[in-house]
Amino acid sequence: MALTRQSGLEGLPGVGKARGAALAKLGLATVGDLLDYYPRDYQDRRKVSTLAAAPAEEPVCVRAVVAQAPRLSRVRAGLELVKVPIADETGRAVVTFFNQSYVQRALVPGEEYVFYGRLEGAGRARQMTNPVFERADKARFTGRIMPVYPLTRGVSNNLIAALTWRCVEECAQSAPELLPAEIRRKYNLAGAPFACANIHFPVGDAHLAVARRRLIFEEFFLLSCGMALLRARRRRGTGRVCLPPAGEEFQALLPFSLTAAQRRVMGEVASDMASGVPMNRLVQGDVGSGKTMVAAYGAWLAAKNGLQCALMAPTELLAGQHMATLAPLLGRAGLRVGLLTASVKGKQRRAVTDALRAGELDLIIGTHALISQGVDFPRLGLVVADEQHRFGVAQRAALAAKAGGETPHLLVMSATPIPRTLALLLYGDLEVSAVDELPPGRSPVKTYVVGEALRPRLYSFIARLAEEGRQTYVVCPAVEQGENGRLAATEYAGMLQQALPHLRVELVHGKMAAPRRQAAMSAFAAGEADVLVSTTVIEVGVDVPNAALMVVEEAGLFGLSQLHQLRGRVGRGRHQSYCVLVDSGAGGNSRERLEVLKNTADGFTIAREDLRLRGPGDFFGQRQHGLPQLRLADLAQDMEVLRQARQAAEELLCAHPDLAGEEHRALLGRIQTLFGEHPGMFN
Ligand code: ADP
Ligand code: MG
Repeated sequence: MALTRQSGLEGLPGVGKARGAALAKLGLATVGDLLDYYPRDYQDRRKVSTLAAAPAEEPVCVRAVVAQAPRLSRVRAGLELVKVPIADETGRAVVTFFNQSYVQRALVPGEEYVFYGRLEGAGRARQMTNPVFERADKARFTGRIMPVYPLTRGVSNNLIAALTWRCVEECAQSAPELLPAEIRRKYNLAGAPFACANIHFPVGDAHLAVARRRLIFEEFFLLSCGMALLRARRRRGTGRVCLPPAGEEFQALLPFSLTAAQRRVMGEVASDMASGVPMNRLVQGDVGSGKTMVAAYGAWLAAKNGLQCALMAPTELLAGQHMATLAPLLGRAGLRVGLLTASVKGKQRRAVTDALRAGELDLIIGTHALISQGVDFPRLGLVVADEQHRFGVAQRAALAAKAGGETPHLLVMSATPIPRTLALLLYGDLEVSAVDELPPGRSPVKTYVVGEALRPRLYSFIARLAEEGRQTYVVCPAVEQGENGRLAATEYAGMLQQALPHLRVELVHGKMAAPRRQAAMSAFAAGEADVLVSTTVIEVGVDVPNAALMVVEEAGLFGLSQLHQLRGRVGRGRHQSYCVLVDSGAGGNSRERLEVLKNTADGFTIAREDLRLRGPGDFFGQRQHGLPQLRLADLAQDMEVLRQARQAAEELLCAHPDLAGEEHRALLGRIQTLFGEHPGMFN
């Protein structure tokens, strides 16, 4: 039966129920899945040698005849040996297999095979151990560049390679061409069939490079098109025109004067919201730069124009805190503010959603719960997503869809300074503003990297600060003991309380019920607790100006940008603040990484170093930004291709704004599946 990309894998030679299930674990159900499952590496099996000339240092292929029947011996329980003498016209050798008794039958005396392995020893003792072998007249996986695939239990590389070989033979020629011909010409890109065949079984190094470039380009191109479509769709929508009242009116609500950066960004927000086109703006600013005020300003502007605003935070903790600061502040301007998180339930929840529906709330603050069913906004004019990297593109779109016919203005706030390279991809659909100035009077946080031996001294430091009325955060990498042997918040809190019995220690972590968590958090915020021991739940946004010390235990386990965020929790008040990074010395380059933090307070420099030291894979968990996963492309290395792909996407969408033509159907379809969590996104 002829295979197509849609054919299932189960039923192909060697794939029964069990293997089918194992393959499904890798996301491989159809021929198309397999063809899009790219090798993670390659093994060069091209070097062919005679037995006499084979070097001992590197594996090679030798063509040789099995000279005698293989001999199986059991050395001891669990150790079986098969020895096979082989020969070619230049000499002889012995091939040994450990625990692969099937080769006793697989190798037939008198037949010629290709063996791929390292030929060690000298003279009569020359031998190869556990080589790969194939019949010489049917050789596929020797004498060539061999793909190495990511595997799982029950799936061998040979299985995937064999299946893929068959699929490539039958389907590569008809691989769907997603890239328009003129783009392939202009950017010198190979066609889809060539790329498909050579990414799996490259004919040579140059073929592989050409195939890779084409496929990386395609990945970036699809993402860029998707982002551009999103942006175009938003631009075409009509935005509600919000006319700004005099700016000083907002300033009058505040106990401090706005920084120049805050004023500038608020000006950008105001002109976006007055333009008639839906705002689509990212506000980037280092921790503590006062982004919340920008959000408050947007909400205030919307309310002044009779519209509602939804503020989405990544955690309940942060939503609660925004509620605590914004409700009184905006209340003074007559705004009605409500809170909606997963722990607002039953009657209380109904009261909030009813008020929202009746238009009796101007600002609703919440978590993902805001996207859920039963939450309707009759006059939604502005959506603010705080700490954006936790929200996917799809979630933003889902919330925007709640506004009914009109497209609401969108403001996205991020404290994680993103290197330009990543920003291009992540926020390709957003305009960017920078709050690039801290409010006055902040003194830099003194940062120390210490070993565990200094913990007793650290404890006395905590006690001394407490005597002065200052508070301390301690962040641990785990909630409970036993999570990979990492230091756990729960145990730490107990330990600390024992060591410093006169201090009040509170504990917050993600596994705690929300009311308890909030009680602990409020106690700390109100200055009733001296120390807050937590996991990274406090990472984003929490604001307690009286806190003057941040201790991070096993700091080497955290990313630099994450540590910078944590450090940003202190240094918000008038007091000298400190950050102590406890390094257990476990991680390889952890000292080097932590020293970066000691030496700079600039979020962008830190992000760049983080990217350099850890690579982009770790920089953001893929899922955090909600973008489709990159299969081949590497953000650190493939920037030039990204630039070209973005340019190509712009050119194409300029000429064909909706990709509506028949010739772009496959392309549009693929983009839609890629961004597939949210089907209606591009309509
Ligand atoms: P982030 O940008 O990290 O979200 P926040 O909005 O939480 O920062 O602000 C950090 C702290 O700075 C808050 O306590 C806030 O009230 C205060 N703040 C914001 N703007 C100013 C300002 N212009 N002058 C003084 N303090 C400010
Ligand atoms: Mg914030």
